[in-house]
Amino acid sequence: MAVLMETPLQGATADRSATGPIIEIRNLSKTYYTQSGDVKALNNISLNIASGEFVTIVGPSGCGKSTLLRMLAGLEDCEEGVLALDGKQIKGSSHDVGVVFQAANLLPWFTVRQNVLLPTRVGKRGNDGHTDVDELLEMTGLADFGNKYPYELSGGMQQRAGICRALVRNPRILLMDEPFGALDALTRERMNLELQRIWRASNKTVILITHSISEAVFLGDRVIVMSSRPGTILQDLKVDIDRPRAFDTILNYPSYAELSREIRGLLNAEGGIE
Ligand code: ADP
Repeated sequence: MAVLMETPLQGATADRSATGPIIEIRNLSKTYYTQSGDVKALNNISLNIASGEFVTIVGPSGCGKSTLLRMLAGLEDCEEGVLALDGKQIKGSSHDVGVVFQAANLLPWFTVRQNVLLPTRVGKRGNDGHTDVDELLEMTGLADFGNKYPYELSGGMQQRAGICRALVRNPRILLMDEPFGALDALTRERMNLELQRIWRASNKTVILITHSISEAVFLGDRVIVMSSRPGTILQDLKVDIDRPRAFDTILNYPSYAELSREIRGLLNAEGGIE
């Protein structure tokens, strides 16, 4: 549960100005100790993320992207380095952070509305502070589907319900691990547009992992390119393309093609993205 340290993290920025980072990662490494040997997943990651930023992460399979996201979600211990939210070391999960995984994992015996409300039914804080569910369903185009069951929804709609569930406690940060990886190309593009709209409307800080270079550039204010395992940051690339972005007009920006090419080159040098 939400167990953030009460005392400011030593060495982390104590002054939270409006433009200060909401997330600070410094010299973060992660090793899994398994029976078959040690697996170093992350090596010396340093990264600041500002409030309201949309940051996308690409990297080869197995380079530690999900590990990083799980650590940010407080689902994985941080033993080496600094991993701070608002200047306080992340310890355990927090209501300030919502997570969306590749599979929506909705409970089949609950309606969409009941699924979305699930996070408000666990934890000591009960229902306080949760967002208006109707507003969320409206925002994600599910206004008419609150009383439907998951099997009555398309894959894209189930994923949108998963996003509603992640947002129901009104977290400031939304972490997304390959949220659209299982969707067909057209639905995926539509979801990218939806997500951009939701992000712009809700003012959240979003960190999204993807295997798609075009998705990373389309959605990100910055694209973080990671090396193969143990994952390090190869490049932190700024995407200077006006918002809202659209798939037909983004192709007119030379920087879109340039960035995509640069990212592809970096990943190819790492042995590709798969
Ligand atoms: P990615 O998301 O980039 O594909 P992961 O973070 O899932 O990479 O995994 C990074 C490395 O850590 C992989 O080699 C993976 O096998 C290993 N790993 C991930 N989770 C665990 C775990 N719980 N125990 C042991 N090794 C793990």
